[in-house]
Amino acid sequence: MDEHLNHAPCGYLTLADDGTILTINQTLLNLLGYDINELRGKHINCMMTVSSRSFFQLYFFPLIQLQGTVEEMYLPLQPKGENPLPFLLNALRKVTEKGTATHCMFTLMKRRREYEQSILEIKREMEEQNRIKEEMITELELLQRQLEHKQQELVEMNSRLKVLAETDGLTGLKNRRSFQESLSLNMSLCQESSLPLSLLLLDVDHFKNINDTFGHLTGDKVLQVLALLLKESTKEDDVVARYGGEEFAVILPNADQPQALQVGEKIRSLAEASYSTSPWFTVSIGAVTMSLEDTVTSLQSKADRALYSSKRNGRNRVTHFDFLHRSTDPNSLK
Ligand code: GH3
Ligand code: MG
Ligand code: MG
Repeated sequence: MDEHLNHAPCGYLTLADDGTILTINQTLLNLLGYDINELRGKHINCMMTVSSRSFFQLYFFPLIQLQGTVEEMYLPLQPKGENPLPFLLNALRKVTEKGTATHCMFTLMKRRREYEQSILEIKREMEEQNRIKEEMITELELLQRQLEHKQQELVEMNSRLKVLAETDGLTGLKNRRSFQESLSLNMSLCQESSLPLSLLLLDVDHFKNINDTFGHLTGDKVLQVLALLLKESTKEDDVVARYGGEEFAVILPNADQPQALQVGEKIRSLAEASYSTSPWFTVSIGAVTMSLEDTVTSLQSKADRALYSSKRNGRNRVTHFDFLHRSTDPNSLK
């Protein structure tokens, strides 16, 4: 064999058609740890792993017979007493006058295997990183949903708190603070759109007697009955509030003096007639209809004066501020 080929940087051998090794170079002998006499004349099977043998038999031989060449076939060879080594085989079958020989070049693939291995590891690591990322995204989405849920709960809780803060516990009507806000807002709205607005102030007559006669709990019941009656006698846009103790207020947006008197009279008569559900009681009512110069304070003050007049004139009646006898009324506006 040519010296260059004998020590070429790759393995080389020639095979007879039946697989017998005809020649083998020193490089391949060194790689596999054999002496030339141990392999020459032997079947190539003796330097192969068990799986390589079947592969060689099933694929290599038919292919080389049919096509005359085999390119880049991956094939592990079995070195003497060591682990198999991976090789890439290129082969060419030549028919000459001297006979037929298949020339086989074996290139060791150790490095390539290592590269492949590290590429696989990087790929696995990237897949793992992706998996972790996906998990984190899922967890983040879950947290996001929980946050949204909590925010929603907070909004609902806030609106419940707002309602509680604006509501009178005994009657379920708006409380005094909320009434003040509503009055201010409604007055502004009606003033802006040149609409009338009326206010009724109510006070239960001789309520102390009801408490003293029937007890405080029955007194509470009367206040609840009156609250219900007020809701039923007013429209959706009207504002009914517990002004304090046994006093109530009704804001009537868009209601002029006759309408205010009408609603007041309706409430008064219903209260008087409601003795089937509670002890008999009556209410005195003061009504006022907003003038251009009125403020929140002046309007309430006028309603209060009208109410006082109803009390003074015998209770169980409705008095509109416009009908006060200013000269005789000690509370009349100067
Ligand atoms: P008038 O006709 O002059 O208004 O007489 P009145 O007895 O109704 O008025 P007064 O101011 O003397 O008494 C009001 C009573 O209302 C006194 C108070 O104990 C009672 N009261 C205030 N708030 C409540 C309440 O929430 N429940 C009950 N049962 N009584 C209350
Ligand atoms: Mg009172
Ligand atoms: Mg009273």
